[in-house]
Amino acid sequence: MRLSLRRHNLALATPLQTSFGTIASREIVTVRLADEDGLEGLGEAAPLEPYDGVSIERTIRALRSHQEAIDALDRARKSPVGAPVEHARSDAARLLEACRQADPLPQALAAIDMALWDRAGRREGRPVCELIADRPQHTVTVNATIAATDRAAAAAEAAAAAQAGFPCVKVKVGLGDDAGRVAAVRAALGPRVALRLDANGARSVEQAVRAIDALAPAGLELVEEPTHGLEGVRAVREQVAVRIAIDETAAQPGALGAGVADAVCLKISRCGGISSLLAAAALVRASGAEVYLASTLDGPLGIAAAVHAAAALCSRGPVAPCGLATLQMFDGLGDPLPVRDGAIAVPGGPGLGVEAR
Ligand SMILES: [Mg+2]
Repeated sequence: MRLSLRRHNLALATPLQTSFGTIASREIVTVRLADEDGLEGLGEAAPLEPYDGVSIERTIRALRSHQEAIDALDRARKSPVGAPVEHARSDAARLLEACRQADPLPQALAAIDMALWDRAGRREGRPVCELIADRPQHTVTVNATIAATDRAAAAAEAAAAAQAGFPCVKVKVGLGDDAGRVAAVRAALGPRVALRLDANGARSVEQAVRAIDALAPAGLELVEEPTHGLEGVRAVREQVAVRIAIDETAAQPGALGAGVADAVCLKISRCGGISSLLAAAALVRASGAEVYLASTLDGPLGIAAAVHAAAALCSRGPVAPCGLATLQMFDGLGDPLPVRDGAIAVPGGPGLGVEAR
């Protein structure tokens, strides 16, 4: 088995302003896992340093450790002494575990896990979602994200999203003029489209409660990450009448089963791949909360992985609209996973169903 890496840059068509800064472009690493029979799997590492604190260099260092771990496994497999014991476990599980022991960085493990699922799907001639669930959905409902920070442009984007059939629109708050922008977006959406806010933890508990009380009359589906931390989120949720979701706080130890929020946003990159995301979703659901998936401005392979995971999760319970309609924010990517009527069709080809650029 051979792992090769390719680092590349994706430019955003319009710089994205968030409460953690402005993002004009991002780097990702595409990994290719090839076995001796020529069967390949593709994956992607998509750290976003201003958001998750993980640099591309740190991710590549982890992937190089994974390369060494995979080489060592190969040598052990070829050695007559090691072979009988090593064959006792499945190749993919053994490989992923060896990589985890070499370096547990989730953003890098996600790429390896994705490549293993892609390879398994290609080997079976079936899409990844069909390897996870027997009746996956054929489409995954997604939200639009309003990038504009001024009222008029935000309203225009919201009107376009409603026109395009999105059932849910997300607005970043904590950026100044939240009240004016949220009201303008609601007016442009009409009453039917769900309106989700994301504060990226920008506020204290008291500020978050005041802000949510002020914005609630716009009619909110939920407020994501009103403040950072389990105790803070719990305190906010107890004081407001709007549903609360966690995103960044979901990375905290014990957060997935804590039951402090009504919904939990899960990400392929932060979870460490499809396999870990499915385990995380099971914990969240057992705590009584709802799940939805989102990207951290992932590339096509990361979005495809999330779409397959969401399609499989939909067959076992509700999944709120997912923040996966982000590929069109990049310049020059084409439209590998187009959004139609507020949903992404699950690729029907073998594996993840997306080729590397
Ligand atoms: Mg978020």
